[in-house]
Amino acid sequence: MTPALGDEVQRGSECAPLLFLDIDDVLCISHHHGGRQAALALNSRRTADAAPFPWDQLFEEEARIALNLLMERARPRIVVTSTWLALFNRAAMAEVFRLSGLARIADALHVHWDAPQNRFETRLAAIERWLAANHRGEAFAVLDDRESGTGLAGSTIEREGRVVFCEVGRGLHLDLLPALEAALTEPTKR
Ligand SMILES: [Mg+2]
Repeated sequence: MTPALGDEVQRGSECAPLLFLDIDDVLCISHHHGGRQAALALNSRRTADAAPFPWDQLFEEEARIALNLLMERARPRIVVTSTWLALFNRAAMAEVFRLSGLARIADALHVHWDAPQNRFETRLAAIERWLAANHRGEAFAVLDDRESGTGLAGSTIEREGRVVFCEVGRGLHLDLLPALEAALTEPTKR
């Protein structure tokens, strides 16, 4: 029997690799325009007296260029792992990505798009919980920084080459792409 088109699409997206994406110190370096300011600006857009907000400066230009290139080359599905999850639901998060030059990220959010941390839990634990519930064997990479990426250093997934750390205060840049692309194309043993 010929599979329905929907089945094909579903299978296709299941094969797509996964990128666990942090935001602060990966995309957003600014202390003036961070998640809280973006959340306030997004809410005020619905009112007549909306204050202008520098959406094009929310994320670092070099980080945007690098991430858009990665999206074009490796086409991962995105799972957000960030404290910004406390500020935005899926629709609002997608709008923030669209407004700030990362429409490709908005379009690539995974069906299970978030891996939030519980209180006193490491970033690693949140990712492991997501994988236990949703992983279907896809290749994956974790993009974080050493400050927020608690538990990742020295973990099994780091030893597998799946964790790429940004420098705090610098964020993502083009030199980190080879490691990310390698993780996104390396099949998992899980
Ligand atoms: Mg961070």
